[in-house]
Amino acid sequence: MKIPKTRRTHCPYCKKHTEHKVSQTKKKQASSLTYGSKVRARRRGKARGTGNLGRYSKPAVTKFNRTGAKQSKKTNLKYECKECKKTHLQKKGKRSKRVEFV
Ligand SMILES: [Zn+2]
Repeated sequence: MKIPKTRRTHCPYCKKHTEHKVSQTKKKQASSLTYGSKVRARRRGKARGTGNLGRYSKPAVTKFNRTGAKQSKKTNLKYECKECKKTHLQKKGKRSKRVEFV
């Protein structure tokens, strides 16, 4: 999907339509050794039931193999207001295989 680099849209901080710079948000890999995840693992009893039994080195085993179920991902765009330099995210992503800025 071709997306323009700039777009006039509403800025929730300026409370009016302004020019915005459009970019894609970077995906962050969830850390498996955060405090919260360790607490969760402890509550689940670490190696209970199906799954990867609390092993962090390997990804979770999914019960149903659904590889290739979807070919496209929803876009998650970031809008940077040119007036106040503040950013806000796209409300609802659209499905596309590939994002291209023009
Ligand atoms: Zn603004």
